[in-house]
Amino acid sequence: MKKIAIYGKGGIGKSTTVSNLSRALAATGKTVMQIGCDPKADSTKSLVGGKRIPTILHTLKEKKRATKLEDIMVIGDGGVLCLEAGGPTPGIGCAGRGIISAFELLEELNAYEIYKPDIVIYDVLGDVVCGGFAMPLRKGYSDEVFIVTSGEMMSMYAASNIAKAVRQFSNREYASLGGLILNAKNIENEGELVKKLSTELDTSIIQHIPRNPIVQKAENLGKTVVEAFPEDEMSKIYMDLAQKIIKEENDNEK
Ligand code: SF4
Repeated sequence: MKKIAIYGKGGIGKSTTVSNLSRALAATGKTVMQIGCDPKADSTKSLVGGKRIPTILHTLKEKKRATKLEDIMVIGDGGVLCLEAGGPTPGIGCAGRGIISAFELLEELNAYEIYKPDIVIYDVLGDVVCGGFAMPLRKGYSDEVFIVTSGEMMSMYAASNIAKAVRQFSNREYASLGGLILNAKNIENEGELVKKLSTELDTSIIQHIPRNPIVQKAENLGKTVVEAFPEDEMSKIYMDLAQKIIKEENDNEK
């Protein structure tokens, strides 16, 4: 089982990228589990027909120890196992603590042993890389971290902070930085700006995802591009990203 965390600034298109990646990995025959770790809890929306699924934190609050896996997990398009950690009541509680509770519950319910995912993807908000939101980097939760960024200043600033947080843990045999995913917003010199950032962070851009209205079109249908428009060029780009992730998985196992 490979576990990857995908971080990025809110609004950068991270969840769209993650959902399309999950669906593309599923299309290759992999069993994929996607865990949304953003208090907005909409990471898996385009895998489940545009709906929202019950969050782990909310269900835990309601059902407490009686919470079962079927209460918090929905099987989405392509068989992707969809979960959302959820967030606390605004102004009260710690969102990072919520992620930790969600992870603990999944372990307690033996989610990984029962569903045996080949790949677990954590979709994590990277605006603030506090101890709580750094959780997926720690304790062996993820093997590798990818950062979604555009060439926008705030997005690259967040990417840089996330990379620094990954470095904090790398010498403790926690997650390592797998690379950047450039989700283009079509700003001037975007490719060069993100290339420069990748050099500064001593990493690489593993995929360039161009801006394309078909992504929004698919989202409006409550679907991923890979599901709604499998023959489209954008689908092929997400499939290409999936192949790179699988290749890394195979290379790491050698
Ligand atoms: S900054 Fe992080 S650790 Fe602090 S309350 Fe917010 S989520 Fe929790």
